[in-house]
Amino acid sequence: MRKLEERILKDGVVLPGEVLKVGAFLNQLIDTALLKEMADEVYSLFSESKITKILTIESSGLPFATAIAMKFGVPMTFAKKHASANMTDDVLSAEVYSYTHKKSFKIVVGKEYVRPGDRVLIADDFLANGNAIKGLVSIVESAGATVEGAAIEIEKSYQGAGDEIRKKAVRIESLARIASMENGKITFVS
Ligand code: 5GP
Repeated sequence: MRKLEERILKDGVVLPGEVLKVGAFLNQLIDTALLKEMADEVYSLFSESKITKILTIESSGLPFATAIAMKFGVPMTFAKKHASANMTDDVLSAEVYSYTHKKSFKIVVGKEYVRPGDRVLIADDFLANGNAIKGLVSIVESAGATVEGAAIEIEKSYQGAGDEIRKKAVRIESLARIASMENGKITFVS
């Protein structure tokens, strides 16, 4: 998506460790006009898939997933990184290594929120090593629901995980695909 790529070049900041900071328009201060256009784009890509639910992981996937869910007119649910006291034992869970926090989390979703027969679109802000997406796919499958695909704001394509997951027949649509961030210079997959 051209507009997202232009915004990444204008306002994205490459931090040490090849972490791209997008707090100024996607994560902490959210450009709602851009968010709406991204949700519209995801809708046009998956409009044939009869999506019944959007699933993301807290916290940075939440605005994107909510905007997509509103466009499809379906509920959004999210995996929590910390099981809270008000969660019953009846949970779907997966182990996920976090790229940004450099540690593993158990992610959990209440069993009642992803049901057998649901056609789920997974949404997240970044796809880096693919661990978050793999964890969410495993949660959907353990619920007896179907993964219709994954919508990603920014894929770091040079890390290879997106194509590895695509080979497992998961449809991944990324709105921006970064080919390289070497020496702080961002280039996109053409
Ligand atoms: P993965 O599991 O694919 O390695 O990483 C995906 C998760 O890590 C995303 O949910 C995102 O929050 C975070 N992440 C990965 N790379 C980046 C990055 O370059 N910038 C930011 N802001 N978050 C990232």
